[in-house]
Amino acid sequence: MKVIDHINQAKGTLLSFEVLPPLKGKGIGALYKHLDPLMEFKPAFINVTYHRSEHVFKKRADGTFEKVVVRKRPGTESICAAIMNKYNVDTVPHLICGGFGVNETEDALINLHYLGIDNVLVLRGDAAKNETTFEPEPGGHKYAIDLLKQVVNLNSGIYLEEELKDTHKTKFCIGVAGYPEKHFEAPNMETDLMHLKNKVDAGADYIITQMFFDNAKYYAFVDACRAIGITVPIIPGLKPVYTKKQLTVLPKTFHIDLPTDLSNEILRCKTDEDVEQVGAEWLLMQSRDLKKNGVPVLHYYTLGRPQVVANVVKDI
Ligand code: FAD
Repeated sequence: MKVIDHINQAKGTLLSFEVLPPLKGKGIGALYKHLDPLMEFKPAFINVTYHRSEHVFKKRADGTFEKVVVRKRPGTESICAAIMNKYNVDTVPHLICGGFGVNETEDALINLHYLGIDNVLVLRGDAAKNETTFEPEPGGHKYAIDLLKQVVNLNSGIYLEEELKDTHKTKFCIGVAGYPEKHFEAPNMETDLMHLKNKVDAGADYIITQMFFDNAKYYAFVDACRAIGITVPIIPGLKPVYTKKQLTVLPKTFHIDLPTDLSNEILRCKTDEDVEQVGAEWLLMQSRDLKKNGVPVLHYYTLGRPQVVANVVKDI
């Protein structure tokens, strides 16, 4: 079932979770262990992130280095199918522009369609580790909107080989990313919102936000979206803080702020167990407030801490 149908048919706020594919070399059992404590909360859907290949330098026996391509977390599409099969829950694979040509994208979409997956979250992806700015593959998509248009075309039966006749139409429900604190490359919030509106006007069914720790920023973002005519559901993305190190890692990686009250409390903690407790209380406070204000879905980035998220969700 499509994410948008879940939202339209819901009587209250839904739950959803986001997981990473296991590291290459680990079995899928580790992922099931991660999901097991969360499934009792009956999430409407589960997102699975996408991780592009990276170039790394591997030392040869003679001491020289060779550049090799490694993909640390493969399998997004098949993991979605496996989760759907095991837990009977809808899944949302993330699909990115980075590292993909348009033909590979089309093949990936056809595979997802055959697997019975009705949802995709379309993203640009970040710059590869060896690049300073995002570079598309030759002939690949530059922005998420270009990838989105390819999915919209497939939903209309338009494949890359235009001469194909009597084509089958896919029926993907399409999500896109939004940034309550602005995407870090955008020159200003207005421009970023204009690009977001373009994605919605081109066919996105809903928006999921980057994580935020101050609900006021989410509410201001929703107001700003509504003011420029974005009417689709805007799902808040939430993440627990559980280590002191995240005080610097989260702003650096995701270009977001942590409120002073939260950072002060974390700084007072003696151990990471204390930080986990503070982070869980903060997440609970954010979740209750968002639910009270009628958000369509509470979407949790569970990454590495399913039990913290489970405890919070239980208490909402
Ligand atoms: P876009 O919408 O293409 O925007 C990127 C930048 O370009 C923005 O600054 C925008 O304002 C600007 N822009 C857009 N269109 C134009 C245009 N036509 N002309 C000029 N500028 C333009 N990354 C992964 O690799 N894998 C994942 O699984 C993943 N999951 C994510 C899930 C969520 C909910 C979020 C919020 C992010 C996720 N990301 C993931 C990170 C994402 O790929 C990065 O944030 C990336 O830098 C931007 O992706 P986007 O889809 O927002 O890009």
